[in-house]
Amino acid sequence: MSNEAIAQLFLELADLTDYVGDSPFKSRAYRQAARVLETLQTPIETLAEGGADALETIPGIGEAIAEKILAYLHTGVIPKREQLLQQVPHGILEVMAVPGIGAKTARQLHEQLGVSDLQSLRKALLSGVADAVLGAKKRERLLRLVELKHKAQRRTPLGFALPRGRELLQAIQQLEGVGNALLGGSVRRMQEDVGDLDYLVATAQPERVLEAFLQLPQIAEVYSQGANRAQVFLSDGLQVDLKTVPSQSWGAGMLYITGSKAHSIRLRQRAIEQGLKLNEYGVWRGTDCLASETEDAMYTALGLPWIPPPLREDSGELEAAEQGRLPELVRLEQVRGDLQSHSTWSDGFNTLEELAQTAVVLGYEYLAITDHAHMLGDQSDPMTAFEQRTRAIEQLNEQLGGRPYLINAIEVNILADGTLFAPEKLLRGAQLVLAGVHDHHGLPAEQMTQRLIRALEHPAVDILAHPTGRRYGKRPPNDADWEQIFTRARVLGKAVEINGYPTRMDPPTPIARLLVESGAWIALGTDAHAARDLQAMELAVGLAQRAWATPERILNTRSRDALLQWLRDRRNAS
Ligand SMILES: [Zn+2]
Repeated sequence: MSNEAIAQLFLELADLTDYVGDSPFKSRAYRQAARVLETLQTPIETLAEGGADALETIPGIGEAIAEKILAYLHTGVIPKREQLLQQVPHGILEVMAVPGIGAKTARQLHEQLGVSDLQSLRKALLSGVADAVLGAKKRERLLRLVELKHKAQRRTPLGFALPRGRELLQAIQQLEGVGNALLGGSVRRMQEDVGDLDYLVATAQPERVLEAFLQLPQIAEVYSQGANRAQVFLSDGLQVDLKTVPSQSWGAGMLYITGSKAHSIRLRQRAIEQGLKLNEYGVWRGTDCLASETEDAMYTALGLPWIPPPLREDSGELEAAEQGRLPELVRLEQVRGDLQSHSTWSDGFNTLEELAQTAVVLGYEYLAITDHAHMLGDQSDPMTAFEQRTRAIEQLNEQLGGRPYLINAIEVNILADGTLFAPEKLLRGAQLVLAGVHDHHGLPAEQMTQRLIRALEHPAVDILAHPTGRRYGKRPPNDADWEQIFTRARVLGKAVEINGYPTRMDPPTPIARLLVESGAWIALGTDAHAARDLQAMELAVGLAQRAWATPERILNTRSRDALLQWLRDRRNAS
């Protein structure tokens, strides 16, 4: 339990007190206590070991508050808060959390319009009936806030959140008084989709930094603000949380802001087992802070090696860390080329030359041009178009001196029965063949499994592309026996793709983990349909890291010659 979390409970207690119309002195005392707790660095559990007397030595904490803190630490609830919750509409705390809605307004909204939570508040605002209570002008402002909050409940693909997050990080780093700044949370863990952007800032002047932060042009609305944190929305509805820590607590803050929740809970349990306490300011023994400045030191104080953020999901990383068998994760700079891209020869926006130029900028040795077989040329004669493209690629390779080397590859559709939609001659003529599902999604699992296995068994196929077919906002991952499919790929010596296209990110983490565990070859591909899409390799690598992938089984960590050798060997074996 962080001090910040207890502070939050006291803020809620204050709102509840106001709502039921209890003494305003009480709610003021609760808010005061929240402010004190929020900025307190020593774990409250530690201070509470000295009992109520010790707590009462903290300025702003009186007898009644100390009692509530102790009750909370012993039972996990503040009885007074529970009791008040029984007397109010179930979602009134989220209604009162909307800036501009105080106790009086919340009560009116409930009594006159039946508003009891954010959902019913949104309805009342949208329909205009809230005007009677709020007036049209206030309604407009509240509607904007509630709509932003509503939108923020949707998750955003990492590929969209990451550039927005970095741009804002740059702006934050330039604010006066900011030491270090970090974009943490699910973005740092490279989660495929994110709920909000979490920033950590090291500063000795939190008030000044927060004030400057709230003035940034990117920020559309301020939702809440505390002594060392703020919650805001960007104009596109992305929710942003910013938290400040003193610079000596930088590592502790990083660990705290990066999560995941499940990982943090396990670390806190571990600390307790060792007679220590862990919070956002450090690892503590009693009132002694043992570690706080770096993440490395934090893990060391807990008897662990540093754990890479993409692994922090409580999915075996603590056990692996303890036993010294954390994987040496693949890194972006180890990737020597991209194994899926599309040019103007099919449905891509950029020419072979333009793709090659970007590949040079990215420092690639090679780039697989994987135009869709059924979209080549005017589509009436794919073979002729393929032969023309082959010559164009060969010419360009000659011109560029093989830097980068363009691989004459193809992506072919897997039909519902697992056969491939391309002439055999074309498949044999390609240097590299990707096979992927592009229609008939959502077949029964058994049928989908057989379909993919049959495609893998085709001697020309090298790589199974975007295996689950998921698209953000469009369709969920297909259902299939992934272990069986990946095992088959391994036995056949073929590769399965980890696709980094922002709306794909396929397969999702748990299935990608099965892929890594299967021991099959892995191909990282961006599925670029424009030269700028090649940047998405970072996302493919992030997903591979979340799946615990090391470089050894990843095809495109190989040099060009080693990759071409792999292709020749594989074909000779088929
Ligand atoms: Zn495809």
